[in-house]
Amino acid sequence: MDSDPADAFALLGAPTRMATLSAFADAARERERPVTLTFTELFKATDEATTAGFAYHLRQLRDHYLEKVERDDGEAGYRLTDAGRRVVRALAAGVYTERVDREPVAIPEPCPLCDGDLRAATADNVVTVGCADCDQNVCRLSFPPGGFASHDTPEELLTAVDRLHRDRVRLLREGTCPDCGGETTATVDTVRKEDEPGPAHATLYCTACGERVRCPVTVALLDHPALVAFGYDHGVAPDEHPVWNVGKAFSETVLSADPVCVRVGWRLGDEELAVLVGADCSVGHVERIELQTSSERDELTGSAAA
Ligand SMILES: [Zn+2]
Ligand SMILES: [Zn+2]
Repeated sequence: MDSDPADAFALLGAPTRMATLSAFADAARERERPVTLTFTELFKATDEATTAGFAYHLRQLRDHYLEKVERDDGEAGYRLTDAGRRVVRALAAGVYTERVDREPVAIPEPCPLCDGDLRAATADNVVTVGCADCDQNVCRLSFPPGGFASHDTPEELLTAVDRLHRDRVRLLREGTCPDCGGETTATVDTVRKEDEPGPAHATLYCTACGERVRCPVTVALLDHPALVAFGYDHGVAPDEHPVWNVGKAFSETVLSADPVCVRVGWRLGDEELAVLVGADCSVGHVERIELQTSSERDELTGSAAA
């Protein structure tokens, strides 16, 4: 059943109908499982004066957001359709109603551009990680407003923001949109600096809903199996460093702008992983290089300690 988005939203346009859908969220939270509620239970959850008035609103929600079913005890009840569950979850997450703004907090990792002090500020549900010293914004990460309340400290919140975005980036790069399930595309482009190829960026785009993420190529690859396996062999979890500063063990070099070829390197212990990335953000070549000389290793130790 396809329906016009305007009609679908119009069906929700009454406090009684929102209260009815919220009753499912409240009952599901209480019983920790999806629920079927009777006409009487739903009627009580609203401010409607008469059952006749409530019956009208219930009819509007039927089919699209609610379906009538027989409960195990033989009584007739209502349960949410998939569209209904999505609306209820979005309401609980505050997606359509809440706006979170938070004062800047200091971040332990240094600025990847200048080693200065990073801080995270939130405006309109978007966490911006920026540098107090070089004044550059490192990344802007949208976070569901309901999620802000459930993390007690700024550290826990930032860990959740980091995790959520790693996973989003992985799904977008692999071809599926985390928001709508649509097909995504991935492209790598380089910014020209005079005659030299400048830094590279990956752009991940959903062709169905228009979600778009732009990030360094290294960040787009953090959960690639080649990197996860290399980290695992060296006892390093892929999320040891957050997306706003993946650490100096990583390097990114544009080998060619046309056609695009970017080398992402990751040095751990006496080994370097090198992957070559093409214009579609796919990994074309993977190599593990043994670091021969002590100066190569010192270089790594020195830069990691800096
Ligand atoms: Zn900086
Ligand atoms: Zn999408």
